[in-house]
Amino acid sequence: MLSAGSNTGAVHSTARSPPTKPQGRHLRQPGGGTSAARQSRLRSKLGKDERNSSYKQESEYALHETLVAANANVGKPHNRIDNERQMLQIQGTGKILQGKTETNGNTVIPNQRPKETKGFSHNKEDGNKVVKRRKPVTVDTSKAKTSMEALKLSIRQLKWKEFPVGRRSACDIYWHGVSFHDNDNIVSGQVNKFPGMIEMLRKINLSRAVRTMQELFPEEYNFYPRSWILPEEYQLFSTQIRLAKDSDASLKPTFIVKPDGGSQGDGIYLIRDPSDLRVIAGSQTKQSVVQEYIHKPLLIDKLKFDIRLYVLVKSLEPLEIYIAKEGLSRFCTEPYQEPSQKNLSHVFMHLTNYSLNIQSGNFVHSNSLSSGSKRTFSSVLYRLASKGVDIKKVWSDIISLVIKTVIALVPELKVYYQADIPPGKPGPSCFQILGFDILLMKNLKPVLLEVNANPSMRIEHEQEVSPGVFEYVPSPVDEEVKVGVIRDTLRLMDPAQRKPPQQQEEMSVEVGSPEQGPGEGGVLPSLCLKQVFPKYTKQFSYLRTVERITALFLRFLGVKGNMRLGPTGFRTFIRNCKLSNSNLSMASVDILYIDITRRWSGMLPESRESGMGLQAFVEAFFYLAQRRFKSLSLREQVVSLLEVCEAQLENQVGGGPGGPLAEDSTSSARRSVSCSRTQPGRTPHPHYASTTSQALLAPQLYSPAVQRRASSQDYRLHQRLRPPQTHKASVDN
Ligand code: ADP
Repeated sequence: MLSAGSNTGAVHSTARSPPTKPQGRHLRQPGGGTSAARQSRLRSKLGKDERNSSYKQESEYALHETLVAANANVGKPHNRIDNERQMLQIQGTGKILQGKTETNGNTVIPNQRPKETKGFSHNKEDGNKVVKRRKPVTVDTSKAKTSMEALKLSIRQLKWKEFPVGRRSACDIYWHGVSFHDNDNIVSGQVNKFPGMIEMLRKINLSRAVRTMQELFPEEYNFYPRSWILPEEYQLFSTQIRLAKDSDASLKPTFIVKPDGGSQGDGIYLIRDPSDLRVIAGSQTKQSVVQEYIHKPLLIDKLKFDIRLYVLVKSLEPLEIYIAKEGLSRFCTEPYQEPSQKNLSHVFMHLTNYSLNIQSGNFVHSNSLSSGSKRTFSSVLYRLASKGVDIKKVWSDIISLVIKTVIALVPELKVYYQADIPPGKPGPSCFQILGFDILLMKNLKPVLLEVNANPSMRIEHEQEVSPGVFEYVPSPVDEEVKVGVIRDTLRLMDPAQRKPPQQQEEMSVEVGSPEQGPGEGGVLPSLCLKQVFPKYTKQFSYLRTVERITALFLRFLGVKGNMRLGPTGFRTFIRNCKLSNSNLSMASVDILYIDITRRWSGMLPESRESGMGLQAFVEAFFYLAQRRFKSLSLREQVVSLLEVCEAQLENQVGGGPGGPLAEDSTSSARRSVSCSRTQPGRTPHPHYASTTSQALLAPQLYSPAVQRRASSQDYRLHQRLRPPQTHKASVDN
C-alpha cells in the first residue's frame, strides 16, 4: 500500500517543500487576509497537485495504513526517509483549483466538474447524456475570522462557492469564527456553531457536566481528573486535602488551578496545598477550577506532550459524532520532572500549550510532521507502536473518552438549542468542530484536560523575525491536519449528501479504514473524519440517562425560548408524573424547588433568568429518585424514577406542554440501563490509583454527591426533606 519508496511523486503531493525562506514568510495581515505569498504558495501547490494527479490514490492513506505499516515495521531497521514519507502520506490534501475573484471579493471557481449523482443527469432521446450541473454549495465565510485561510483552501478543494463578504440571499453553510451568535439573522442552512457550546465548555461548566456523569457512572467517567470549583468549593477542597494529608504524612499532591474563562494557559499555576491558592489569598475571588495534577504523564524524548484531537458534532438529534483520524501533539520545551516546590513555576516543563512554549528559546519549528515541538498525532503513535505499545487500545480508549464527554455535554446543549431554535420556528441547523485536549498518562490511559469550542484553525504561525517585527510563517503540520478537518466537515455537511446515520453493532477499534467521501467519486481523498456515534451506539447509549431527564425538563419548560423552569412548571412535572403522595406533599415539592433553585442561582450569579435550570432540575431529580427508591445505586434509583415518569407521561395523550417525550436515543438508553447494576461503593478514578495516594481517593471523600451536598448552603433543608432511611430494597410507594 504505501509506495512512498518507489513513488516520489506521491510523496511530493503531500509533503511540504523545504522551507522557502523569503517566499514562505508573510507579514502579519490584519484580519487574517490572504497574502501574496500565500497565493504564490497556493499556485505552486496547484501545479504540484496537478502534476501528481495520477498519484492521487497513493495520497489517500489514512492513519490506519500508517499504523499497520508501523506495526509491521516494529523491530525492523527503518529507513528514516521512508518512515518520514509514510507519515507524510497519511492524508492527501486533494486537488486545489485556482479560482477567479469577483469584484465583490467572492470567489468563483470555474469549470465546475459535472456530478452524475442521482437527480442531476438524464439521457436525451438520441442517447447522449445531458448532465445537469449541480449548483455549487454556497458558504458564507464573512465571519470566519482566523479559520479563513484553512476554510478558503477547503472550499477550493471542494469546488464550492465562497461568499467572503456575505450574501443577500441565503447560503447553504455559514462559517462562524466564534459563536452561533456571530450572525443572528440566519433562518436556514447550517451554522458551524451550536448555541451554548462556548458556555458549556467553560472549565467550570465542563467540570460540572462531567461530575454529574461521575455521580451516575463513576467507572466510565474516571478519565477526568478530580476537580473542585472555586470559590464555592474551597472549604470542601481544603478539608478533603487536609484529611488526606493527616492520614498519610508522606502525601505530597499537586494541583493545577485554571481560571474559568481562561485559555492558552493564561492564569494557570500549580500548587501543593490549598493555602497556596491565589484566588483565595487575593482580594478578588476568581471563578476557577482546581484539579488534581497528573504527575506521571507519558513522555517522549523526556518531554511532556498533549494531544489535540478534532471532533465533529454533526448533529445533536440524532447524536452524530466524528473524530479526525489525525491530530496534533504539542510538546513542552523543557524536560519533564515530577512536580516539586522548586520546579512548580516552570511553565515550559508542565504546560503543553503551544502559545506558551512558542515563547521558549527551545521551541523547535519543523517542516517535518514527525519532529519538532508540534507534530502529527499519528507520528507519535508510530513512535509508540515501534516501542511495542498497543496503539489500537490507545485509540479505542480515546474514542470512548470522546463519546462519553460529548454525551455529558449534550443535555445542556439541547436546552440551549431549544431556547435559540425552538421547534417549529425557522432557523438553521448546527454542527461544530471541537478541539479535545488529551493527556496520555505513563500507563497510556487518556485523560481529558479540556474541550475547546473554538479550536485554533490557523495554518500559519507567528514568528518574531527581529525584535518587535512579526511575520506569519506557514505551518505544514497545521495545514496538513486542519485543512483536512475543515474540508471533510464541509463534505459531511454537504446539503445534497445528508442521509440518516447508520447504526452498527460492535465497537471496532480499527481507526482509519479509508472512508469514501460522500458522492465524491474518488476525486477527493478519503474522509479524514471517522464516525464513532451512532456507530458505537450499543456500547454507549446506556450513558444517556441525563438526556432522558433533560427530555422531561424540556417538556415542562415549554417552547417559549427560556431555559429555566418556573415553580408552576416544576409542580406540573410532579403532578403529571404522579410523584406526589403521602410521603411527598406538594408543600415539600415547593420547598424543594425553592431550596435547589436558590442555591443554583448563587452558583451561577451571571445568569439573568430566574427559575430552575437544567443542572438544578437534575439535582432535584436525583433527590426525588433517592427518596423514592431505597438501597439501590444512584444510577438505578434515577433510572427507576425515569421509568415511572416516562410511563406516566406515555399514558397521557398529548400530556404536558412540550413535544413528545420519548426519543429514539433515550428509549434505547432506557432499555439498556434498566437492568444493569453499578457498584454502590463508587470507587473513584481507578486509573489514577498508581499516581495518586489512596488516601486522596477514599470513596467517602471523593463522591461528588457528597461534595455537592457538603457544599450546599441548604444542606440542613435537604436533611429535613429526606425521609427516614430504610434498608428495604424495593420501591417505597
Ligand atoms: P487552557 O485552556 O488555558 O489551555 P488547559 O486545561 O488546557 O487550559 O491546561 C493547560 C495545560 O496545562 C494543558 O495543556 C496541560 O499541559 C496542562 N494540564 C492541564 N490540566 C492538567 C492536569 N490535570 N494534569 C496535568 N497537566 C495538566
